[in-house]
Amino acid sequence: MVFTSLVWCLLSGSVAWADPGPRDDVPTGPPPARWFKGNLHTHTLWSDGNEFPEMVAEWYRDHGYNFLAISDHDILIQGSKWVSVEESNRRARADVLARYKARFGEDWVETRELDGVEQVRLKPLGEIRALFDEVGKFLLIQGEEITDQFERKPLHVNAANIIERVPPQGGRNAVEAMTKNLDAIGAQGRRLGRATLGMVNHPNFGYAINAEDLALATKGRFVEVYNGHPLTRGRGDGTHPPVERLWDIVNTLRLGELKALPIYGLATDDAHNYTDRRGPSPGRGWIMVRSRYLTPEALIRALNAGDFYGSSGVTLKRLDFDRASQTLSLEVDPLPETDYHIEFIGTPRDYDRSRRPVLSSEGRPLPVTSRYSSDVGQVLARSEGLTASYQLTGDELYVRAVVTASRPPENPSYPAQRQQAWTQPIGWERD
Ligand SMILES: [Zn+2]
Ligand SMILES: [Zn+2]
Repeated sequence: MVFTSLVWCLLSGSVAWADPGPRDDVPTGPPPARWFKGNLHTHTLWSDGNEFPEMVAEWYRDHGYNFLAISDHDILIQGSKWVSVEESNRRARADVLARYKARFGEDWVETRELDGVEQVRLKPLGEIRALFDEVGKFLLIQGEEITDQFERKPLHVNAANIIERVPPQGGRNAVEAMTKNLDAIGAQGRRLGRATLGMVNHPNFGYAINAEDLALATKGRFVEVYNGHPLTRGRGDGTHPPVERLWDIVNTLRLGELKALPIYGLATDDAHNYTDRRGPSPGRGWIMVRSRYLTPEALIRALNAGDFYGSSGVTLKRLDFDRASQTLSLEVDPLPETDYHIEFIGTPRDYDRSRRPVLSSEGRPLPVTSRYSSDVGQVLARSEGLTASYQLTGDELYVRAVVTASRPPENPSYPAQRQQAWTQPIGWERD
């Protein structure tokens, strides 16, 4: 009898049990694309950060972020890891266990004593996501900072949305090491049928990566144009260009000479220190990604399409590239009592290709980025105010915009820093 009525229900399309109706937090049709704020480079106590991952996730969620990739050095936050309480407190110069317990309670926090050492369990991402993930609002992503080296120089590549650890792949030089690590991230994605993202971190850290090498490592589609860690030397020095200049050289070489795809610029925190505002603290660099869905797959698709910008404080109300008129236009979402200027930067197709190596005091070429002509990454147009647009003439290899505010970031990473936003190169797709 029950069987026949169930068959009848299925045949007639009616449902015999109470239908709860659609959940209102799960979109039923395609929602409009919107901007999601996120950071793809963060450390916790799982490696050399000084805070529990739940505390880190909560910091980002409470500061308006929509997604966060936790990217500890050469480790995924999976399984179990027990760390010494004393060592964790020493690293943070604070009683991090007491704060962790005060926030999440004795029931959540797991401690034990092993061989006379008090230990605390670091929770894996799966457990933490249960506390923080919220449809369309906040998403935690598994990341890893693959901490490789060549010739004793640090070469770090971040992976996002992986589920197996990628060990450092090594390489005889920077190009080989970047390529092998990025290939390993891509290969895992193909093998497991998931979207993964690989990015080249802080090229000026240890001055390990010069523009020529990054241009040749064409598997690299993302590089940190801004990293909030003060020791990553984003501004360069007398011998090494700032990373923003390096970025323009890379894209000029790729588009003008190598016939390769350009590299996009990310802003990240590389946060390690959550207990005070010194050193690599959070909230300095992030990306705004335009996507319909807050899922790793949708975010990675938008990143691959260049539909994002990096920021150290500036928010855009509008960012459009109209293909028909070949016009890039944007509008700043202003802060009070703040002035803005907008620059369109690019390299003309017929740029002066002259370059000269940087020489040591003995006159030998150094393994650093050569000096390029002022045609490379030149300012094509500049304006004051909240809106600007640039119509491409067709004579540019690429064009990008950078917005600079008169106001410093809330927690600057270097003296005299100003809030900025960096959009991605456009205009190169015609070839
Ligand atoms: Zn690093
Ligand atoms: Zn890092």
